[in-house]
Amino acid sequence: MIKINGLHKRFGDLEVLKGIDLEIDQGKVVVVIGPSGSGKTTLLRCLNILEVPSAGSISIDGQTIDFSKPVPKKEVDLIRRKSAMVFQHYNLFPHMTALQNVMEGPMIVQQKSKEEARQKATQLLTKVGLGDKLDYYPHQLSGGQQQRVGIARALALEPKVMLFDEPTSALDPELVGEVLQVMKDLAGTGITMVVVTHEMRFANDVASEVIFMDQGKIVERSQPSEMFTNPKEERTRQFLNLIQ
Ligand code: ATP
Repeated sequence: MIKINGLHKRFGDLEVLKGIDLEIDQGKVVVVIGPSGSGKTTLLRCLNILEVPSAGSISIDGQTIDFSKPVPKKEVDLIRRKSAMVFQHYNLFPHMTALQNVMEGPMIVQQKSKEEARQKATQLLTKVGLGDKLDYYPHQLSGGQQQRVGIARALALEPKVMLFDEPTSALDPELVGEVLQVMKDLAGTGITMVVVTHEMRFANDVASEVIFMDQGKIVERSQPSEMFTNPKEERTRQFLNLIQ
């Protein structure tokens, strides 16, 4: 489903991704962990082309872009539609209700009719447990509810891959569980997910595979049971000791 080859990303003189190679099969849930500044968010943003990689190639669901050549905007649009992102700070439109937030993407990006978009949005908000909050504005919702709207909004784009960038790290601790539960349910539907998170229990319970990044490189990847009990690399061990 996802194939990344030799991916580099530079911000001026700072090389943040230093040659990432990664393949993720359809339906897998891959959790990315690593110290602050190791490039986890940048990797996710490159997958959605919110950041344009400096070199390397990305292939998602048969759509490939080689960033060593100039990339036509049309190709960027096509690959971008393969994934949808859930952000740390939800990024909902404040002047729109939950329903309108979720309807917006299908109407603008997929040119769906208002009625079709409304039906889909209602169904998705119900699925994330917000069927009774359709007409609430973001400021009338808790952080956990806002993030669930964020997940419904991403799903409305019918992506092949869901990208989660620390989706629970801005939440009060008592609201984390409801968002993780929605993500857990989603993982059970067979959609491919790439999740940057510090929630090691989620990683342990839900991930097919955990990737440890440090200084712009993938240091180690393995199944969660292996990663958390028997990491191969010293750097992984040090990181896990610090956070556990
Ligand atoms: P955290 O866990 O703290 O979110 P991270 O592993 O997700 O960290 P990134 O957010 O990918 O790390 O950032 C990696 C490095 O790239 C950092 O040094 C950051 O300052 C830098 N960086 C990220 N985005 C930009 C940007 N738009 N311009 C310049 N530097 C950037």
